[in-house]
Amino acid sequence: MFDVKRIRADFPILNRKVHDKPLVYLDNAATTQKPRQVIDALVNYYSRYNANIHRGIHALAEEATMAYEHVREETAQFIHAPSSRSIVFTRNTTESINLFANAWGRSNLKPGDQILLSEMEHHSNLVPWQLIAKATGATLAFVPVTDEGRLELGALDRLLTPRTKLVAITHMSNVLGTINPIADIAQAAHRVGALMLVDGAQSVPHLPVDVQRLDCDVLAFSSHKMLGPTGVGVLYAREELLESMDPFLGGGEMISDVQLTASTWNEIPWKFEAGTPNIADVIAFGEALAYLHRAGMSAINAHERELTGYLLKRLSEVDGVTLYGPRQLSERGGAVSFNLNGLHPHDVGTVLDAEGVAVRAGHHCAKPLMRHLEVAATVRASVYLYNTTEEIDRLIEAIRATQAFFARSAHAKV
Ligand code: PMP
Repeated sequence: MFDVKRIRADFPILNRKVHDKPLVYLDNAATTQKPRQVIDALVNYYSRYNANIHRGIHALAEEATMAYEHVREETAQFIHAPSSRSIVFTRNTTESINLFANAWGRSNLKPGDQILLSEMEHHSNLVPWQLIAKATGATLAFVPVTDEGRLELGALDRLLTPRTKLVAITHMSNVLGTINPIADIAQAAHRVGALMLVDGAQSVPHLPVDVQRLDCDVLAFSSHKMLGPTGVGVLYAREELLESMDPFLGGGEMISDVQLTASTWNEIPWKFEAGTPNIADVIAFGEALAYLHRAGMSAINAHERELTGYLLKRLSEVDGVTLYGPRQLSERGGAVSFNLNGLHPHDVGTVLDAEGVAVRAGHHCAKPLMRHLEVAATVRASVYLYNTTEEIDRLIEAIRATQAFFARSAHAKV
């Protein structure tokens, strides 16, 4: 059985109070909390074997290198990548996408080529492509979003042409919670000879993800959204693709030989990891992966589905709530956006915070999607493995308190 109580005991921060109320943390799509195993791994590294990796020949350097490279193996296994040579460590999803956009895009795109994105992309899977399009003369096209918050897949026939060189789409929307049918989209992309890049920032932490089943060529995600430290991102790309690409950043570690006027490159994946990497945080990310593996991604997903179903049901019982995104649990994850009639999302977020409930209010780095929804912002509650239905009850109580608070202040003004 999925033992939430036991899981919660591993997360010291969940014991704290905010404004004298027990914390209800429902901002997991922004970043997640860390179990003590991850925190301990950081302390252990700095207390016992802090050293620079790959270059040193002393014991500490050896231990640190082994630990760092072991996490590369664990990461490959976590997403079912055929080889750890496909795993590049970066700072976050944003850097992973920028790395690929630059290293692949600059030498593979030319005027007239097309990059196909969607209207529900996070800015980090949009702005890098705008920059590359500008630099190469390629153009951008977009899969539209339907009123139910799904991708309009019927448009793919029209949008995918031999000019399409890359399809870059999010696996799960950070605003709508929509899970996109990546395997189908990848198949359609490959039919016209395009590559498939998946923004996995919201899916890898919450669903079992298998890059071979998805048949994607590239996958980007962030450690901090899956119990790991900030400052670690992953770029998975098929080996042949990484082999064929030029480096993104130049410097130490990524070279094989350096002359004064030219250099040759290290093997993949090190060719893409210039300079001293984020050793401590990568090692602690390994503990996060191990934690998720022990809990079981399918069990985590089932727990989140139950919470999401409960959250959607309770929210829809509140007067004046507008919900965004699909209602079908099979088509969505646990990032739930909503608005309260007549109230600004930031005001809602502020009053919820006063009740100890942490949610996000804003455009969620998806301004084009906000325009599509015809709102400036939404409130977003997002769940993870340590959340409970009791916490959702606290959110609903806090929402009712928010409505009552603003009804009273509106009344007082008259
Ligand atoms: N893509 C999606 C779908 C996201 O939700 C996020 C984080 N909000 C990102 C990309 C960017 O992640 P990071 O800030 O870790 O680079």
